[in-house]
Amino acid sequence: MRILVTGAAGFLGSHLCERLLNEGHSVVGMDNFITGNPENLAHLANNPRFEFIRHDVANFIFVPGKVDAVLHFASPASPNPASPYGYTNLPIQTMKAGALGTHNTLGVARAHNARYLLASTSEIYGDPLEHPQKETYWGHVDPIGIRSVYDEAKRFAEALTMAYHRYHGIDTRIVRIFNTYGPRMRLDDGRVVPNFIQQALRGEPLTVYGDGLQTRSFCYVDDLIEGIYRLLMSDEHLPVNIGNPAEITILEFAETINRLVGNKAGIIMKEHSRLGDDPQRRRPDITRAKEILKWQPTISLEEGITKTIPYFKKKMGLE
Ligand code: NAD
Ligand code: UDP
Repeated sequence: MRILVTGAAGFLGSHLCERLLNEGHSVVGMDNFITGNPENLAHLANNPRFEFIRHDVANFIFVPGKVDAVLHFASPASPNPASPYGYTNLPIQTMKAGALGTHNTLGVARAHNARYLLASTSEIYGDPLEHPQKETYWGHVDPIGIRSVYDEAKRFAEALTMAYHRYHGIDTRIVRIFNTYGPRMRLDDGRVVPNFIQQALRGEPLTVYGDGLQTRSFCYVDDLIEGIYRLLMSDEHLPVNIGNPAEITILEFAETINRLVGNKAGIIMKEHSRLGDDPQRRRPDITRAKEILKWQPTISLEEGITKTIPYFKKKMGLE
């Protein structure tokens, strides 16, 4: 297949491009580098099956030649207002990538009669009242909260994807991605994994926001990409959660990072900077992924973090 991947220069997009090329497909990567980095794609530059178009997906998209599949991953993705790359500091761009970008990429799929896959998120469940989160849960989202620019754009994106499926017969898929980590995360986007690993490597205390009792479930990138590839190859049109169901408090997560890095500086508790909309619990129910895709994660948190540390060491100039 010849596959358009938006958000190609980002963390997940770059891994996806690599996987698709390894499967023998041709890839057209698209990105405007608002939160991504061309370095993430440097190793693909000489691959004759890889092309790159610098473009903002909020504007009309033209891809010359045939397109067999469109994977829409372009969007800022970090909630942290302490980083200039957090979506709360890119609110309009985030809404445009999720709304106009989804419309334009669905338009490409329709024009080329291509299959389509939307990168959605566990954030569409908001601060969930149901636990763990099943795909049937409708969510608990404040439409005007500071995270709403991301959550509501993704909810709109899911609705538009289903509209194109139901009314235009487009062959669509929706993946609801839960917290994923690994090499090529942006060092300064403020997400918890880059923050904690860098603080630990610098021998500083880890900044735990709030009481640290909020939970997350962290998935290693290779597991996630495997699930997404299986979904792309499936005929499933309804949303599928992909994530690791091993749930951990942020406090326990900080202790794990300190242990794996050998950091003795401990933890400091920090005032929450997010006006109270930090989801308290998050854990995917992956029954559907298991049944439909025969997928489940295989990499434990300790293994995944151990595979990720060398990337941060290199980027920080520590080796
Ligand atoms: P990222 O910031 O590393 O990658 C996003 C990429 O999209 C960047 O390269 C950025 O420059 C590009 N982009 C943003 N707006 C654009 C626009 N208007 N036009 C063209 N390119 C644009 O983030 P990521 O973690 O790789 O996330 C990728 C996708 O996966 C996002 O859609 C995100 O919502 C989704 N997601 C990620 C996670 C996670 O844990 N990493 C969880 C849930 C959902
Ligand atoms: N967090 C933290 N310290 C940090 C960064 C994040 O305690 O330096 C917390 C944050 O408040 C949230 C969790 O870690 O509860 C995960 O945050 P992240 O920004 O990675 O993404 P989220 O899962 O909230 O979308």
